Amino acid sequence: MIQLYIPLNFLGVIYREIKQGLADLEKMFVLLEREREVADKPDAQPLQLRDVAVRFEQVDFAYEPARTILHDVSFQIPAGKKVAVVGPSGSGKSTLARLLYRFYDVGAGRITIDGQEISAVTQASLRQAIGIVPQDTVLFNDTIAYNIAYGRPGASREEVEAAARAAHIHDFIVSLPKCYDTAVGERGLKLSGGEKQRVAIARTLLKNPPILIFDEATSALDSRNERAIQAELEAAAQNKTVLVVAHRLSTVVDAHEILVLEGGRIIERGNHAALLALQGRYAQMWRLQQQGGGSADQ
Ligand code: ATP
Repeated sequence: MIQLYIPLNFLGVIYREIKQGLADLEKMFVLLEREREVADKPDAQPLQLRDVAVRFEQVDFAYEPARTILHDVSFQIPAGKKVAVVGPSGSGKSTLARLLYRFYDVGAGRITIDGQEISAVTQASLRQAIGIVPQDTVLFNDTIAYNIAYGRPGASREEVEAAARAAHIHDFIVSLPKCYDTAVGERGLKLSGGEKQRVAIARTLLKNPPILIFDEATSALDSRNERAIQAELEAAAQNKTVLVVAHRLSTVVDAHEILVLEGGRIIERGNHAALLALQGRYAQMWRLQQQGGGSADQ
């Protein structure tokens, strides 16, 4: 029996290795696919930041030609202000965030930062200027310290720790056997959705970029952590140009402008008070959330 068990066990190990290898390859192809979509133009110049104002001008976008996801979307985020996007699931909120980071190029219209079209500047300079906290963070197969410092290569361990404290993940990290040197990612320690998001927040706080994109997770953080981190993010967002994809309306009340997206179109816009007075879709979502009726997606 033992004789049979050992080779079978060995086969199991090989099977898992191959499966992991294929998963990594798949990820790489996804990344390559994205890179191919958004190559630097031959004459691309570095982004010149002045006030850091963002504009979407009549933007259309489709992942696949047959299905347009965003229709004629125009808005601006004045320098140092926050614009929030709310709306039902699948309405195109995260797509807006991805376009600003230039994971994809727009189909029509344009996106500019301080008057420079983002497709005309170097990707390196664009991504230097933007910190993104996505809904679902993919970690590198490396240590947790590396994953945080990726926001600012060359950061000292003290700086990494300070960012981790601010993102409320330091205590968790020091409880791990190898602390900041613990390997994470697909081949290391698997982190929960909320833990991964806090790593992404620490990375962004450390990077300290002038533009922030926060794609709020629906359920990744529990509410105690959420409130504490929200306070940190608000502090970090002071005087920054911010785009928030919001599921909880409590995070948008102070926004300069709130966009209500439905079917890829802006159907209502204004600040919180104006939208409540409008008695439309936003007011309805607000009432539902006040009654504890869940997220802004309903
Ligand atoms: P949620 O609130 O559920 O996160 P959302 O409003 O952020 O939703 P998006 O993620 O922007 O919605 O997606 C908008 C539409 O685009 C959805 O119908 C989705 O199926 C489609 N979509 C998203 N990503 C891709 C992709 N990579 N390829 C093809 N279609 C996609």
